[in-house]
Amino acid sequence: MSEFISPRNLASSLEARAKHPEYVPIAGGTDHMVASKDRGAPAGMINLFGLSELSEVSELEGGGLRIGACVTYARVLDDERVASRFPVLSSACREVGASQIQARGTLGGNIATSSPVGDSLPALLALGATICVASVDGERRIPYEEFLLGYRKVDLAGNELIVAIEVPVQHKGAVQTWRKVGTRRAQSISKLTMAAVAHLDDGKIAGIRIALGAVADRTVRAKAAEAALLGQSPNDESATRAIKALAGEIVPIDDVRSNADYRLGVAQNLVRRFVLSL
Ligand SMILES: Cc1cc2nc3c(=O)[nH]c(=O)nc-3n(C[C@H](O)[C@H](O)[C@H](O)COP(=O)(O)OP(=O)(O)OC[C@H]3O[C@@H](n4cnc5c(N)ncnc54)[C@H](O)[C@@H]3O)c2cc1C
Repeated sequence: MSEFISPRNLASSLEARAKHPEYVPIAGGTDHMVASKDRGAPAGMINLFGLSELSEVSELEGGGLRIGACVTYARVLDDERVASRFPVLSSACREVGASQIQARGTLGGNIATSSPVGDSLPALLALGATICVASVDGERRIPYEEFLLGYRKVDLAGNELIVAIEVPVQHKGAVQTWRKVGTRRAQSISKLTMAAVAHLDDGKIAGIRIALGAVADRTVRAKAAEAALLGQSPNDESATRAIKALAGEIVPIDDVRSNADYRLGVAQNLVRRFVLSL
């Protein structure tokens, strides 16, 4: 039978993680319990859900927010600061599963699972988030883009835990957009997702981040499309150049939920619409 440890604080969790790197950390359990049907029970579990140090949203200097790894989607949705400063993240959280999953699933769990269709991931990537991980040896802060290493693979050592996500303040007047394409409004695993953040200066695109899910082995930035748009006026011409660039840089996945051609076409439509919305 698996040992189930429920540490009382972060320090004890990190000690347990160092002592038992083979034990599985568990937050809401909404990914782990489903996966354990196939994988079988682990040697042990370290329960993180509800740990106060991982469940808070706090202010960062300059207007950013530090969101604890065990903050649930429901808690994100309750936070006025997230809604007003990072609407793209609130919108993504609102479309995860349905109420039950939102009450239990955590951002840290979504990030650690790192499915190419994880819904909070494109939003965090488009916002330029930093992932904070910790072990008994101290804390590391990694730009989210570098934290993503491959298919369901992140830069997390066996003795580390994700402790928080830091989201920097965005440019004043930045437009933030979230789009999830699935088969229905709730309990739908995404066919494709897009999160985008951009701002204009004197009618030209002065900053832009476009992140897509389900178009590669991991969530990715559409950097060629971004480069095609930077410094341009948002119009039909620049949108056309951007979606051509996009076709050259993404390799959408083919799976039971959709196929690569459909995903490419939809990704191009979403990017075009975003550009024209600016
Ligand atoms: C019915 C259903 C619908 C769903 N719908 C969606 C959806 O629409 N969109 C979506 O993106 N996901 C969806 N999911 C997947 C899941 O709910 C999310 O990925 C959720 O965020 C996982 O968080 P959790 O806290 O439950 O993770 P857990 O299941 O507790 O953990 C998942 C993995 O992360 C690791 N982990 C968790 N926390 C940490 C930490 N702090 N540090 C290091 N490792 C950690 C665990 O060891 C485990 O490997 C759905 C799941 C179900 C069952």
